[in-house]
Amino acid sequence: MNNLSWPATILLGIMLGLVAVAAERTADEERRGSIADGATAAPSEPGATGDADDGRSGGDAGDEGAEGGDGGSGGETSPDTGGASVDYAVTLTFDDGPHPVYTPQVLDLLEQHDATAVFCVVGQRVREHPEVLRQVVDAGHALCNHTDTHDDELADRDRDKIERQIAEADEAIEAALGGEADVPYFRQPNTAVQPEVEPVLDDLGLRPLDWTVDPRDWSRPGTTSIVQDVLGQIRPGAVILLHDGGGDRSQTVAALEQILAGLDAAGYRTVLPGDS
Ligand SMILES: [Zn+2]
Repeated sequence: MNNLSWPATILLGIMLGLVAVAAERTADEERRGSIADGATAAPSEPGATGDADDGRSGGDAGDEGAEGGDGGSGGETSPDTGGASVDYAVTLTFDDGPHPVYTPQVLDLLEQHDATAVFCVVGQRVREHPEVLRQVVDAGHALCNHTDTHDDELADRDRDKIERQIAEADEAIEAALGGEADVPYFRQPNTAVQPEVEPVLDDLGLRPLDWTVDPRDWSRPGTTSIVQDVLGQIRPGAVILLHDGGGDRSQTVAALEQILAGLDAAGYRTVLPGDS
């Protein structure tokens, strides 16, 4: 595979830079509160076709699409109340699993760093690998509904179809977990949650989960690129989009190890959306 050796000096530089930036930002964040609204995140065009995906069946065609869209609102944290401290908390999210190889690797890294995350799972994959889903839940992470078949055109469907995509994924999750399932979030495939989908989420009591940091790890840009993209955009309240399924995610796993080390070094902790 790619040799992703990462010069330690560069990583150290990024970490120190993060710490320095975090310190400089303190005063500003105290005035504004800690919510990262992601307003400046540039939409990335969904459906990029240049991805050189190997060995995946046509049925997964949509999965590699860029989860484009502007920064979301899913990562809000409680605004600072006192002004004495900024809440250095971010949310990690992993899409398109569960995957029998990469999901357990992600879980191991999260455990090593005492980190928590949200896993946006696809119903089809849950039916294929229910035991992996159970590992995710047993480790204390949160689940997010990512539709049953990773429907990239969900917003174009009629309401029945939208509801079915969500309900069938939910049923797959419940079957895998033996009937108990707490799935508070929904993330739309390939895009931020669209207005056509929002009313359905309201009815089902699901919270839309978008993101503010997208290193496009699904396109396999290299471990270094993923790490730099994420650590370079980290700020309190960030919601980081990564993928544990949908293809070869070895770059993501390698990057995650360095991202978690960088977050630790900069004094960030991981929280679920809305937690502080
Ligand atoms: Zn996805």
